[in-house]
Amino acid sequence: MVAEADKNCSGYSDSVGTDTELKLGDYIIMKILVINCGSSSLKYQLIDMNDESVVAKGLCERIGIEGSVLTHQPTGKDKYVIEQPMPDHKVAIGLVLDALQDPEHGVVKSTDEISAVGHRVLHAGTKYCESIVVDEDVKKVVRECFDLGPLHNPANLMGIEACEAVMPGKKNVAVWDTGFGMSMPEKAYLYAIPYEYFEKYEIRRYGFHGTSHMFVSGEAIKFGGLDPQNAKVIVCHLGNGASISASIGGKCVDTSMGLTPLEGLIMGTRSGDIDPAVCQFICNKEGIDINEMLNILNKKSGVLGISGVSSDFRDIEAARAAGNERAQAALDAFIYRVVKYIGAYTAAMNGVDAIAFTAGVGENDIKTRKAICEYLGYLGVKIDDEANNIRGERRVISSADSKVKVMLIPTNEELAIARETLRLTK
Ligand code: AMP
Repeated sequence: MVAEADKNCSGYSDSVGTDTELKLGDYIIMKILVINCGSSSLKYQLIDMNDESVVAKGLCERIGIEGSVLTHQPTGKDKYVIEQPMPDHKVAIGLVLDALQDPEHGVVKSTDEISAVGHRVLHAGTKYCESIVVDEDVKKVVRECFDLGPLHNPANLMGIEACEAVMPGKKNVAVWDTGFGMSMPEKAYLYAIPYEYFEKYEIRRYGFHGTSHMFVSGEAIKFGGLDPQNAKVIVCHLGNGASISASIGGKCVDTSMGLTPLEGLIMGTRSGDIDPAVCQFICNKEGIDINEMLNILNKKSGVLGISGVSSDFRDIEAARAAGNERAQAALDAFIYRVVKYIGAYTAAMNGVDAIAFTAGVGENDIKTRKAICEYLGYLGVKIDDEANNIRGERRVISSADSKVKVMLIPTNEELAIARETLRLTK
């Protein structure tokens, strides 16, 4: 049984490393606007694809709520803050375009300089795995997947429709957060529940943070000088949301998040893997329903739940340093879960060539990276403490005699979306 999207899923995108594929002289206009819509927010970046530099970026907050504010940061110029009502995403996009074209704070003369718009879209169900130029069918799929991504998909669609309204004729590209995970084989994506739920409702494991895993695994292959076809790479995306992926030749074979981002690693506020019977037990004892239970698992669990201190790793580490035992327990449990997944994925791939750390904790938390790697002596992993003493910079952090290359690769989802958008619209 192969789901529709899997048949065409090539996994490792051609777009990885477009810098070498572009014949720059052929393209004069190559600024791509990248949009990431949340239910009441809109993040954007304008990227010049000639050199992949960020021309401007910004954030609209409190869309549809009183006190809307746009913070616009043109590169090399002062930050520009506009407080103006934004009743919906269309108005927000209009203000973003005004800011981009502003005589003083702007970076383009007109929207003609924007060649296309790339959108982060959460969920495509089993319909799409590859990024795609938006048409009516794509919008229909985004709509059909509202119940799979109830917070994000409606906002993502609003963002697309807002861009269509304010920039008619401009191409919009959807880059799916679930896309990377769609190349997982059936044995990795099936839940062991009655098969009819998969058939009726497409209940399966999808995986999230797909753009980040695609980007980082691709960059790890290039940066580590690994075999692009066969390299076995584990990417640890450790941020407030955390997930881990296993890929061979850039094609995902397993990833830790499931039908929703709740499965897998212990996160800032999410529990990750849990015995489902725990839910029934707590519901009965506390007199709460399943919706409230899910809210607890999503928002009040994870390292916040164990430590009782914070969901932020810096706060938890400060508490640990001050002798807080629950903070220590939270960090130990977080690290242990990552280590278990690395072991499982190494077994699933029959080996691993490289492990890449990324996202807030993965890029910045020197001690946590070291603590994870200390468990991996059985794989021949050896960390170079001096190389590991770094934050937010691409680097090999294992020693020359390590059997597995360990790397720090800062993620860049916006650039990954821009590369996909360019590839599909150039
Ligand atoms: P993200 O969701 O990728 O933005 O990651 C956010 C997480 O990264 C938060 O829990 C932060 O505490 C954590 N983080 C950022 N910088 C550091 C740092 N220097 N040391 C430890 N954790 C950090």
